[in-house]
Amino acid sequence: MPFSPLAIGYDQFIIDLDGCVWIGGQPTPGAVEALRAVRDEGKRVAFATNDPRAATEDYVRRLWKIGVKASLRDVVTVGGAVQHLLAETRAGRTAFVIGTPALRRHVADAGLKVLNGTDLASRADVVVVAGSDDLVYDDLRQAALAIRRGADFLGTGRDATYPQPDGLWPGSGAIVAAVEYSTGRTAEIVGKPEPQLMQTALDRLGEGRTLVVGDRVDTDLAAAAAAGLDAALVLTGEATREEAEGFEPKPVAIADTLAGLLVGP
Ligand SMILES: [Mg+2]
Repeated sequence: MPFSPLAIGYDQFIIDLDGCVWIGGQPTPGAVEALRAVRDEGKRVAFATNDPRAATEDYVRRLWKIGVKASLRDVVTVGGAVQHLLAETRAGRTAFVIGTPALRRHVADAGLKVLNGTDLASRADVVVVAGSDDLVYDDLRQAALAIRRGADFLGTGRDATYPQPDGLWPGSGAIVAAVEYSTGRTAEIVGKPEPQLMQTALDRLGEGRTLVVGDRVDTDLAAAAAAGLDAALVLTGEATREEAEGFEPKPVAIADTLAGLLVGP
């Protein structure tokens, strides 16, 4: 399988999952073969996802399921980044989490006492807000009360949407925005567009010419820029070509698919 001229110029790739590698678990056209070809050439690949709903192990399993080899080290998740940040800055404190059981585990593993389901939830020291498939009004109420009492307010991302086969579903950012709107406070964001996920991925990949690949301008391209890395956009997910062309700094490439970007049409 031939390489695209663009891919030849890079030693390693940090690739977003939703909208790039897969959409709702279905690989984008040619993605599996393209990733195999890139690795067969000795180039390194890491995956960086703002999706806070699953544990790193789940993404590794999903990658294997579509035919992409992966280890825990290859996948950088925003849940892992939240855990890292909380362990360094807020261990021993209490937390209320809007998010999945996997995210609550990350917060607990950071050394915080998770108050979800207790009478003390609205008195937590830290509120962590992420996308959740089973959000209920009471979650927003507890989070807002704790934040109005002075709790630290972390969000996993500002993604307004994420791509699914039937269209764009509300993302983490939509839920973070609900809590911001009801409290007048602004969340500290841990995931993309902040550079933390890129830096963690770089730590694992090592030195080399690095290309970030994503499907959103306001998260993927912005995080690459914040980390000082080149970025390319694929059109299988959220952003349009016009949005990508309008972003500064301009992406080094805009491709119809991940496969098209890495190995050519
Ligand atoms: Mg994406």
